[in-house]
Amino acid sequence: MKSEAMFYEKLENKRVHCYLCPHNCSIPSDGRGLCGVRKNIDGILYSLNYGEISSIGVDPIEKKPLNRFHPGTYILSVGSVGCNLKCPFCQNHSIAQVKPEEIHTHQTSSDEIIAKAISLKEQGNIGIAYTYNEPSIWYEFVYETSKKAKENGLLNVLVTNGYISKEPLNQILPYIDAMNIDLKAFNDKFYRELIKGGLEEVKATIKRAATECHVEVTTLVIPGWNDSVEEMEEMAQWLASLSAEIPLHLSRYFPKYEMTDRPATPLNSLIELKQTAERHLKYVYLGNV
Ligand code: SF4
Repeated sequence: MKSEAMFYEKLENKRVHCYLCPHNCSIPSDGRGLCGVRKNIDGILYSLNYGEISSIGVDPIEKKPLNRFHPGTYILSVGSVGCNLKCPFCQNHSIAQVKPEEIHTHQTSSDEIIAKAISLKEQGNIGIAYTYNEPSIWYEFVYETSKKAKENGLLNVLVTNGYISKEPLNQILPYIDAMNIDLKAFNDKFYRELIKGGLEEVKATIKRAATECHVEVTTLVIPGWNDSVEEMEEMAQWLASLSAEIPLHLSRYFPKYEMTDRPATPLNSLIELKQTAERHLKYVYLGNV
């Protein structure tokens, strides 16, 4: 289902400028943004994945991963289609790196998701996690649902790449209780060349979010790209400058999607990086091992 997008402006000749994320796409009529899920139809920008659910399930909160936010509880987890980054190692590429018309989705409403979350409360469900694909990329639905969920006493969690512009981030933060934000590397070359994003923009999201809600950070450690001790030292130091209490999850890379040219991250490398990060941060976890 399509819905008119938030955070765009109309330009000349039916062109539009989308400023939901730092890509700042300028989109001609009948064109789409880099994310593939926002389309200019006759001078109006639409979100094409509004209410389109690709995946839904009830997960332990630790699976998000959030280890220090209501441990032992469960959370209704929903995902849609699309992403604004182009990670060749994407773990969820079958829903994140496709267009809405390329996969089967289930059309739903905010009220339906909220009713389901409430019905699961007795089984330990605390709220709704917007996860599996990038939540900011179906912002309109996530924003509307999280607002209503909050009114109904549910908690909201975003599992995000953090590549979102300042204004939309500020607008949704009052309704968000926790975020797990990817910090995919601590070098801009990785962001620019490998995944078509930007390190400084993601750092700005982490810094802002950490003042408003519970934040945990995840780094997928990829041999040869972001696995140096020096880089981990810098990353952990920077996180600690925000707060040494921010939990960091170091996740193990396995060959996947378009990146199959290297073996899984060696365990001894993960352990060394964990020890490095622990010199600055109180909580460092290994995931996917
Ligand atoms: S959300 Fe999509 S269309 Fe908008 S700026 Fe980002 S990539 Fe471009």
